[in-house]
Amino acid sequence: MSDSTQVSNASCDIADRVVAAMRRHGSPGYPRAFEVWYAHISGEMPAVSMAMNAIIASSDGVVGMADIDNLYERFIGTERLARQAERTSLQVLGEIDGLMALVDKALDSSERYHGRLAAMSEEVPPAADRQKLREWVEALVMSTREEVTRKTQLESQLRDSSSEIRNLREALETTRAEALTDPLTGLANRRHFEEMLQKSIDQATLRREPFALVMADIDFFKKFNDAHGHLTGDQVLRLVARTMKDKFKDKAVITRFGGEEFAIILPESDVVAGKFGAETVRQALLTRELIKRSTNENLGRITISLGVAGYRRGDTASSLVERADQALMQAKREGRNRTVTEDALDSALGRVA
Ligand code: GH3
Ligand code: MG
Ligand code: MG
Repeated sequence: MSDSTQVSNASCDIADRVVAAMRRHGSPGYPRAFEVWYAHISGEMPAVSMAMNAIIASSDGVVGMADIDNLYERFIGTERLARQAERTSLQVLGEIDGLMALVDKALDSSERYHGRLAAMSEEVPPAADRQKLREWVEALVMSTREEVTRKTQLESQLRDSSSEIRNLREALETTRAEALTDPLTGLANRRHFEEMLQKSIDQATLRREPFALVMADIDFFKKFNDAHGHLTGDQVLRLVARTMKDKFKDKAVITRFGGEEFAIILPESDVVAGKFGAETVRQALLTRELIKRSTNENLGRITISLGVAGYRRGDTASSLVERADQALMQAKREGRNRTVTEDALDSALGRVA
């Protein structure tokens, strides 16, 4: 038996075990799920195996779509993007080496041509020796023609090389954008949120400009998923994202914080402006009835709860997120489908104390 047959038998064997495990654990059957299970069963990614075993142990053995997406995002997507970025960077370095070699070649050939011209100018035959003069002119024309041909070739190689570098640069930018985007909603992902929040804090500290942070969470989303299925749930996540984008356009950094939670950074806004923004989104969602496309079934309305905090001097990313999150939790406690600001939180705590 040849090596390749052995290899393909081994991977078929793993594939069979993957499919069996997906069935056993009630996992949804889409390509990402297969990739995640493959990484686990093959043992190729121990970090995936550890996380998967923890999920299985804590969930009566059921591994749902949110779990799969989470594992994919944390381990496989990131790893793939990192590898892709590294490959592209190596290609860029290769192209740059090529480019340097071309430049050296161009300089060499110019130098040789100038050397040849200098030498020839020392050896101009006397005007009377017509034969010699003709040979001299022919040699001069030949050298020049060769130089022109070489230059034309080099120019076209340089053009190819610089257009290749431009393509690689675009590929790198796309990879970076992918690494910062949540694939389901197209919003900025958690990593991007963390970058942007730190940037906002740095700027606010420097310029003494306010900004607000809104945390939003879909109400009773587990119930919704259980009643209508995860795929319909995913459509709801997209709808919420679209509503936020419609309302804020590019005046805010809208991110999927994780699961069914969103975080919005509102520049140049204090808590009052933050609450106003939060309320616009909440009310916009209230006007939208969900109709299931395949069956025309009316799924009712979806509501969200929101918490708002404003940047204070000395805030760190986590202290600010913590206050917005506390406000969000208070909104849930007060009955959901509402916006609570950190001020209300302070006074509530004050009353208790
Ligand atoms: P609450 O009003 O207190 O927020 O209740 P909840 O049910 O929304 O909150 P809980 O945290 O108990 O459940 C969140 C649910 O969100 C559970 C999980 O299945 C669902 N979820 C998280 N991420 C996704 C996703 O990517 N797609 C879908 N369809 N559901 C998701
Ligand atoms: Mg939640
Ligand atoms: Mg929720």
